[in-house]
Parts: sequence; C-alpha cells; structure tokens
Amino acid sequence: MLNVVIFGAPGSGKGTQSERLIDHYGLHHISTGEVLRSHIARGTELGRIADSYISKGQLIPDDLMIRVLASVLDDNPEKTAKGVIFDGFPRTIPQAEALNKMLEERGSRVHAVIGLEVPENELVRRMIQRGKDTGRADDNLDTITNRLKVYHDQTSPLRDYYVQAGKYHAVDGSGSVDRIFSDIRSHLDNNAE
Ligand code: AMP
Repeated sequence: MLNVVIFGAPGSGKGTQSERLIDHYGLHHISTGEVLRSHIARGTELGRIADSYISKGQLIPDDLMIRVLASVLDDNPEKTAKGVIFDGFPRTIPQAEALNKMLEERGSRVHAVIGLEVPENELVRRMIQRGKDTGRADDNLDTITNRLKVYHDQTSPLRDYYVQAGKYHAVDGSGSVDRIFSDIRSHLDNNAE
C-alpha cells in the first residue's frame, strides 16, 4: 500500500510524473483537476460551478472539493487497494487535514509527499506551451499569473505542513522526465508498506 501526494506549483510536472508512477507502482491516479475538467466537459452542475473558479485561476471552495474527493475515493474502493497518487489535492491546509481524516477512516494514511520544485519562469514557459499543445483553457497568461499567486498564497504553506509531518521529499523538477522519475523512485522505494 502506498499513498502518495504529488505536490508542486501548476506546471511542475505532476501529471507527467503521475503517469510514470501509475505504470511503475500500479497505483490509482486521482487528479482533482481532471475530475473537474471532465465534469465541465459533461456539462454537470458541479462542472458549471467548477468552471466559474477554474476560468479565473481560483480554487474551488474547500468544502465542495473535499466532498468531491471523498466521493471519488468511495467510487473506486477496489482500484485504490494498492494505493493512490493524489495529484492536485490537497491544495490547502484544511484539505490536507480532511485527507488525513478520510484515509484514517479507511485504515490508511499518506505515506509520502513528493514536492516537485521548479523555478517560476520555467513553470510559466511550460504552461504556455501546454496551452498551445492541448488547448487547455486555463493555460493562458492571465489565468496562469493568478494560479501562481494562489499557489504561493494558499498551497505552498502545505510544504511546511508536510515537512513537519516528516513526509515531504523535495525533488528537483527541472530537466529530463527520466531523471526526475528516478529521483522520485529513490524517495518512494522505502515508503511502501
Ligand atoms: P490542476 O489540473 O490540478 O492544475 O487544476 C486545475 C484547476 O482546478 C485549479 O486551478 C483549480 O481551479 C481547480 N482545482 C483542482 N484541484 C483543486 C483542489 N484540490 N482545490 C481547489 N481547486 C482545485
């Protein structure tokens, strides 16, 4: 069992490295951004609410986001048996506390947090490129600027939160995908139980 939080600013490579982690460890991937984008694409009520925040680069309110995550976890009990990669969640301290509680209630815990650390100019460059490659709506300069501000104000305090919990593993997120993944593996191989 290995529950991993993949943590970092928007554009830090969480999605790319999650794909490697899924293949290598057989973990179930939960990307809250993808869950929300799929609701937007299907035109659900949640999608309508989520779009009003995502398009401005703001966070979805904690109480709603926590309910969404709990329902995704409960939908997939058999898939989550080997462990989960949490990608894009938690993004605030209340979300991290809620995640601890949800996992505890399911007899588990967060084993490790992988923090992908990337300089800001590189983050912006990657997101602009992703916007061109994929058409992702929130990868435009105005929204990117706000997402980075929200990251600094609301999400980056989680770094200290997980350092204090002894769970934070910093990984240099610049350079080749293979090198970054090999660093991640060296941090995770001792953490599974
Ligand atoms: P991501 O794909 O993880 O970059 O998420 C895209 C957008 O979805 C974010 O900018 C937020 O607006 C929203 N979002 C995703 N995950 C969360 C979360 N855990 N809490 C609040 N908002 C979220």
